[in-house]
Amino acid sequence: MRQRFNISESERNRIRMLYEEQISPDKQTQINQLIATESRKVQAYYQQHYSKSETVSKFRNKNNINEVKKYIQTIRYKVYPMSENKALGFVKKNVPSLINLNVDALFVMRGNNVSAKGSTLYDTILHEMAHLIDFKMQELGEKTITTSTGYYNTSNDGKDSYVESDVETFARVQRLRETLGLNPNANGNDIREKLIKFFKSRTLVLPNVRIASVNSPTGLLFTPIERSKGNLTELWRFYSSMTINGSKAGDISALFGKYSSYRNGGSVYLNLDIIGKVNISTKGVQNPNKK
Ligand SMILES: [Zn+2]
Repeated sequence: MRQRFNISESERNRIRMLYEEQISPDKQTQINQLIATESRKVQAYYQQHYSKSETVSKFRNKNNINEVKKYIQTIRYKVYPMSENKALGFVKKNVPSLINLNVDALFVMRGNNVSAKGSTLYDTILHEMAHLIDFKMQELGEKTITTSTGYYNTSNDGKDSYVESDVETFARVQRLRETLGLNPNANGNDIREKLIKFFKSRTLVLPNVRIASVNSPTGLLFTPIERSKGNLTELWRFYSSMTINGSKAGDISALFGKYSSYRNGGSVYLNLDIIGKVNISTKGVQNPNKK
C-alpha cells in the first residue's frame, strides 16, 4: 500500500534528486515522500531533544539552542546511487545542511512502488543529522562531546578508527538515546536498566549469548555460546548480529564495541559506566568547572 500525502513546496525544494534521469518521475515522488516522512519524524525527535531542560542545561550559550533548532529545519536531502558511494548516507563538514542518501541501499523498488527498507532510512537520517548538528554546534562554539577513548589502542585499518571516532560516537549516542528512550542525563545504571528491559522483551536481541549484570564499574557481561577473541574490530563484529525490532543496529553495535573488552577468556564486558558518562557529556559543555 502506498502512503499518500502532500509535501510542501519547501520540502520539495529541499529533497532534490541527484540523478533524476534514472528514476521515473512517479518513483521520484514516492522517494521524496518517504524522505519527507522520515525527515519529519527525525526533526520532531531532535526538536523535542533540544527542548529538554537536561539538554538545555548542557549548553554554554542558551541562545545556541534556538540556533540549532532553526538549523534542523533547513536541512536538505540529496540521493545518490550505490555506484557512487557504498555508505548508507553521508554528510560533509564543508557542505552544511545537506544529507546525502544512498537510494539503492535505503529503498526497495518493486514495479512502480517504492518503499523504505525497514527502519534504515529513519536510522540513517537520524545518524547523519546528528553529524550536521554536531558540526553546527562546533561552529557555534559549543563543545559537543568529551574525548571518549574506548578500551583499545586502535590499529590503523580504518575500521577501528571508524569505531573509535568521536564524531561517529556523537551520532551513535543519539541513536542509543532515541532507541532506548534515554534521558540526556542517564547514567550507567539507568542505561543498564533500560537495556535489560529491552533484552527481556526481546525488542533488543543479541543471539546466542548469556547476559549478566556486573557492578563497579556498572556494565553487562555477555558470554557467547561460541567463543571468540580479538581486537576492537572483532568486538564490533561480536555485536554485529544484534537487532532492534528485527532490524540491524549498526550504530549501537559500534558504540558497544568501542566500550567493550574481553574478560575471563570468553566473555565480553560492556562498560555502561563509561557510556553513561559519554551520554551525560555529549552535547554542550564538557564540564562547567573545566575550561
Ligand atoms: Zn557517521
